[in-house]
Amino acid sequence: MAAGEVRSSSVPDTDYDVIVVGAGFAGMYLLHRLRGQGFSVRVFEQGSGVGGTWYWNRYPGARCDVESMQYSYSFSDELQQQWDWSERYAPQPEILAYANHVADRFDLRRDIQFDTRVEVAVFDEQAQRWTVTTSGGAVCSAQFVVLATGCLSNARLPDIPGAGDFKGAIYHTAHWPHEPVDFTGLRVGVIGTGSSAIQSIPLIAEQAARLTVFQRTANFSVPACNAPLTAEERQWFRDNYPEIRRKAREEMRNGIFTEPPVKGAFDDPEEARLQNYESRWTRGGLTFMAAYNNLALEKAANDTAADFIRGKIAEIVKDPEVARKLQPSDHPVGSKRICVDTNYYATFNRDNVELVDLRAEPIDRITPDRIRAGNREFPLDALVFATGFDAMTGSVAKICIKGRADRSLNDKWAEGPRTYLGLMTEGFPNLFIITGPGSPSVLSNMILSIEQHVDWITECLIAMRARGAMCIEATRQAEDDWVAHVNDVAAGTLYPQANSWYMGANVPGKPRVFMPYIGGVGTYRQICNEVAAKGYEGFMLSVSSAAERRAASSERAAAN
Ligand code: FAD
Ligand code: NAP
Repeated sequence: MAAGEVRSSSVPDTDYDVIVVGAGFAGMYLLHRLRGQGFSVRVFEQGSGVGGTWYWNRYPGARCDVESMQYSYSFSDELQQQWDWSERYAPQPEILAYANHVADRFDLRRDIQFDTRVEVAVFDEQAQRWTVTTSGGAVCSAQFVVLATGCLSNARLPDIPGAGDFKGAIYHTAHWPHEPVDFTGLRVGVIGTGSSAIQSIPLIAEQAARLTVFQRTANFSVPACNAPLTAEERQWFRDNYPEIRRKAREEMRNGIFTEPPVKGAFDDPEEARLQNYESRWTRGGLTFMAAYNNLALEKAANDTAADFIRGKIAEIVKDPEVARKLQPSDHPVGSKRICVDTNYYATFNRDNVELVDLRAEPIDRITPDRIRAGNREFPLDALVFATGFDAMTGSVAKICIKGRADRSLNDKWAEGPRTYLGLMTEGFPNLFIITGPGSPSVLSNMILSIEQHVDWITECLIAMRARGAMCIEATRQAEDDWVAHVNDVAAGTLYPQANSWYMGANVPGKPRVFMPYIGGVGTYRQICNEVAAKGYEGFMLSVSSAAERRAASSERAAAN
């Protein structure tokens, strides 16, 4: 059946308590938690295996940028004590092996249906249930649907004239083949210079006869300083996990345990400031941005960090003209996701690598065997699109979702996503989103944020079952207030100054709205917990007539 076509008259083939869409880290943990509470659950996953991001993104150099000892589940102490991460930042095959291990260890596969897309989800107001139609044409019903569809799961191929004409091999980093790709002896073009490109370019350059990098916007990148983890390092984490995880959840804005910054950039004299940046650069990783507490807030403070990185680029890259092109100048550092690399800038010192600045020489056309940019021709045997994602809303938008009064979610979100807490959206009862827009999600260690959402949703469903509640729905007022709060917090930072995918700016025509919640994972967790403690404040809960009758009769019994 075509996407968007609704078989409303169909009788469901199967009924569940919960249908989960997606079997990445979010869907897997949700299945584990809900099943443990006795809910019947079905997970639909369009891929052929678990792992989501780590199933799809198999490009050379793909690895996490949050350290593996932290970019891992915390829900099972046995798991975190027993799993051995090999490196500070594990490579993609190892993270995928971890996801498969979790699936086996917790016997998840029996409730996951692979190679199956959820195409349509329609809320039946009378039955107070969702009817879900899959790519195989099966129709199922569930009281709840949870979208665990991922923030970075809908890969984008830009609309470049002639892209369909190219006769050489074409790849997208997020749809990389399962077999190894050999670029030996080939002339390769990479379009894009975001995190995926920055990780893959150094390795492609080592293989290819010639590599041309087509850069539209220069990005800030800091060295990963990746290395094998020693037994002592692993043991230190294992011994201290309870406190590390607690601090990451409650005290760190981005859910990554580190020493939090205690002062602003100008509280240090210049020499001390440069020393601080230098030591963070030498240690490597995303915590470079934790050098000072005002880097995301004040442009002048941010400039000191940006200047430091621009200086490093000038030191590393031998050709001053190439260095200049690689130095970002149009956005504050960190306002686009900062990249973490191994040898990225040094790769441009290789004789077989060329950087094309698309702002000076825009792509005119892709032809069967080359890219024409500016007045130049770049013959190519293979083309890699490292062009990113329709982030945060893209995978949700691909599902035809209809809530109350047959209203479509895409219509509701036409001006940008609106949610209460990033968890639910008004008019769509019993539909949850994991790490949805309006939650910290992509601004955090995502496994930590996934666990928080999964736990909150599970507790909510348990509370509803105890009360006999059939339906939960965000109120319009709570949603309006939350959207305003998310915007207010973002407006107080430098983030909205960048044309980033956080803002939807990478997708032509997408509304420019700052999508993640920037208030920090600790504050956010506290808000979510308070909402639950106040009986799900800001949500309407409706009780089934049977439960109402039960409650009334026990009240009568109590009165007699
Ligand atoms: P995903 O892993 O994206 O899984 C969603 C799943 O839903 C996918 O398998 C998809 O196929 C499936 N799906 C979507 N729509 C449908 C549908 N209609 N029907 C059926 N199935 C559907 N985050 C960090 O915190 N640290 C990192 O180091 C980090 N590195 C990253 C590296 C890369 C290359 C990328 C792309 C992202 C990275 N992220 C990182 C973000 C990463 O996406 C999350 O950390 C996390 O893996 C997301 O898990 P998820 O289950 O929410 O979503
Ligand atoms: P991205 O950050 O969105 O980068 C896409 C790149 O493609 C940008 O350089 C963009 O340029 C360019 N581009 C897009 N359309 C183009 C066009 N029409 N012509 C020329 N260039 C074009 O995507 P990504 O690199 O896949 O990363 C997305 C996110 O995934 C990251 O921010 C991060 O959160 C996560 N990720 C993490 C890691 C990691 O280190 N663990 C690795 C990969 C991804 P503009 O900037 O000009 O739009």
